[in-house]
Amino acid sequence: MAKIFIVAEHRDGRLKKATFELLGASAAAGNETHALILGEGIAELAKELAHYGANKIHVVENSALKNYSAEAYSKAVAQVLKAASPDIVLASHTPTGRDFLPRVAAKLGVGLASDCTQLSFDGSKIKVRRPIYAGKVLVDVEFLGSGPVMATVRPNALGVPKPDTSKTAELIQETVELGALKTKVLEIVKGSSARPDVTEAPVVISGGRSLKSAENFKILEDLADVLGAAVGASRAAVDAGFRPHRDQVGQTGKVVSPTLYIACGISGAIQHLAGMRSSKVIVAINTDPECPIFQAADYGIVGDLFAVVPLLTQEFKKIKEH
Ligand SMILES: Cc1cc2nc3c(=O)[nH]c(=O)nc-3n(C[C@H](O)[C@H](O)[C@H](O)COP(=O)(O)OP(=O)(O)OC[C@H]3O[C@@H](n4cnc5c(N)ncnc54)[C@H](O)[C@@H]3O)c2cc1C
Repeated sequence: MAKIFIVAEHRDGRLKKATFELLGASAAAGNETHALILGEGIAELAKELAHYGANKIHVVENSALKNYSAEAYSKAVAQVLKAASPDIVLASHTPTGRDFLPRVAAKLGVGLASDCTQLSFDGSKIKVRRPIYAGKVLVDVEFLGSGPVMATVRPNALGVPKPDTSKTAELIQETVELGALKTKVLEIVKGSSARPDVTEAPVVISGGRSLKSAENFKILEDLADVLGAAVGASRAAVDAGFRPHRDQVGQTGKVVSPTLYIACGISGAIQHLAGMRSSKVIVAINTDPECPIFQAADYGIVGDLFAVVPLLTQEFKKIKEH
């Protein structure tokens, strides 16, 4: 059994699904599962972590942690971990997790494996699997030496456990000394999209250059509305100005791992595959039967997306109505 610390992520008063995945995986393996949550006014939110498997919940309330900043977060997390001496520390491989956990690892002088898609626990040790070379190769990583070992885990890779709302956990108030910080978040400017983020949605529908215009993405949005999906894009579509960069999937965009990924008019360049190859089911719609996306796809539709996507929308609507 390992003593595991999971750094919880939350935004706008809600915990992230990716945090529940980590808690569930640790608890299912019978580990001593600690959650660490930072922020201001988070006492109530903290309690929910118990529903997903936390045995102990460490709460750091500090006005300097009200909005995420890499400097304040990494200082605070490092202090708590130094005192607690866990065997393993996990965070989600989100923009936030990949920002602060490497800083914490550097502060503590310990190893970190990033963007892991599988975890195997063995006593107080962990082995992780992670993709390299744009997802072409998977490597298993073991940690050497002593001290806590750290990993960030790709969202949607482990699955969210069913919550047990009857569960409670010991709440431990932690105090940290942040000293004089060099950075301060003044304002958070939110994007206008009301859709789920591509990294979090269980279904992602992406479009490529072949959509030809920003307006034509409406046909993907219509399908996304029926399926409760996020809309993603290839870099060619983003570079052409059809979608904002936050929707880009791939090596220089976001890495997604949804239950269902539908690639519409995307050729399947290696840089795009790097961002979606670990999706559970991949459907590709393309006019070219020879294009590489079909090699990565579980289901392929050879056809014109402007005909196929509206038909899918229509059929899914019918299924939902019944
Ligand atoms: C360093 C680097 C980083 C990169 N990072 C990324 C990244 O993060 N994400 C990314 O996506 N790319 C990335 N790229 C770019 C990548 O190499 C490809 O150029 C890009 O993915 C191609 O986008 P696409 O599939 O939309 O366009 P294309 O390759 O032009 O493919 C369009 C596809 O649409 C099909 N098509 C055309 N009309 C229709 C129709 N009516 N119905 C159905 N199918 C149709 C065609 O058969 C074709 O397969 C990167 C490249 C480099 C060099």
